[in-house]
Amino acid sequence: MHLFSAPIAIILLVSAETVHGGSRSWESKAPNQRANPTPYYEDLLTLNSTSTLVKRAMSIKSSPGDNSVARIWPNKEIRWCFEEPPSPSFRGQWETALKSWPGLLRHDFTYKEVDDDVCKSESERSSVLHVRYNNRGVLKSTNGIPAIDAAADKSDPDTILGPYTMLSDKEGVGQGDVVANMAHEIGHIWGLHHEHQIPYYWEKSLEHTFDQWNFPEENPGRVKRFQTNGFICSNLKDYDDIYGGLEAKVNAATGNVKKDLQADLDRLCKSRVVASTYKFSAVEWLPLEHTANLVIDSDFDPKSIMLYPSNAGGKGGFGDDREDVMKYSDDTVIPPRWWPSPMDYERLIKLYGSPALSTLEVPHTSKSSPNFNLFKKSSYSNFRKRAGDTKDGVC
Ligand SMILES: [Zn+2]
Repeated sequence: MHLFSAPIAIILLVSAETVHGGSRSWESKAPNQRANPTPYYEDLLTLNSTSTLVKRAMSIKSSPGDNSVARIWPNKEIRWCFEEPPSPSFRGQWETALKSWPGLLRHDFTYKEVDDDVCKSESERSSVLHVRYNNRGVLKSTNGIPAIDAAADKSDPDTILGPYTMLSDKEGVGQGDVVANMAHEIGHIWGLHHEHQIPYYWEKSLEHTFDQWNFPEENPGRVKRFQTNGFICSNLKDYDDIYGGLEAKVNAATGNVKKDLQADLDRLCKSRVVASTYKFSAVEWLPLEHTANLVIDSDFDPKSIMLYPSNAGGKGGFGDDREDVMKYSDDTVIPPRWWPSPMDYERLIKLYGSPALSTLEVPHTSKSSPNFNLFKKSSYSNFRKRAGDTKDGVC
């Protein structure tokens, strides 16, 4: 999932995951792990917008009046609706997930389901979260209130017309728990990004010293957590299809086209930009190219619900039968998370603690908006290529 000051930060937890088998042990394990959904109750009571506790998360910034980047929800309220009438179980899972961040509720974060008229209203589209169901294991969300472009092709399914989240009740994907996956997406919707994609915790392995990885390695004060050789890209479920398809294009091409395609093939597992171009799920794991317009706190948070478990998106089946895609640099496994960490809460409480409003008086794509001309000058493709964003708006 996002993804970076990101005007259109969207996060995909395990986009292309499919499940071919079942794991009774996983299914029975998850609910037990969730037995105590508020393990940090005491910590939460102490958090406020000026908390000095250690900070560890990464989020969007509060950028009032800036319609070119993702913004926070005004008045700490997410207005939402189901795009299609939900099944009772889907509604129940979603509403349970909304309660999976109890610390936010105690800090006056709220959710408001809007009626069908508002849901279908074009004028409201840029400020209402649309909740979409799928049964394919696709989980992705816009990050905060995304920047949108009224001039974009509305028939393009990747066009961002307003906040949305795609949720699935498929078992055994992502964190391995349906409600935990939705809680992860709710983190994105409020404005959090993936902990493992903070580039400053990555370093090139010796054998990759001269390879074209694409992330900043400065910030020597931070303890590195991930080595590039610990990212086993070929274990991603969609690797064979994406790599094989691109390889076939290389073989069929000639001249400069062939060279360009070969360069992409060489960097498919090293660059989020390239991975995004080919809709490859590596885009969810690889470190960000840069972190402009993001807030990154001081320490790594191994308990963040925004951190993928090692086997998220991995080949091989279902739940913990999936192959590991990435481990920590000391070769230990990143375990799944079922609830937000104290620092996930703290980042959001700090982000929304600012008294500044994030919402413009009129929709920022409206021609009556004073920012409309400014907005128009920036092409959609430029927005999409800004740092942190994936080209297709999915990360
Ligand atoms: Zn995510």
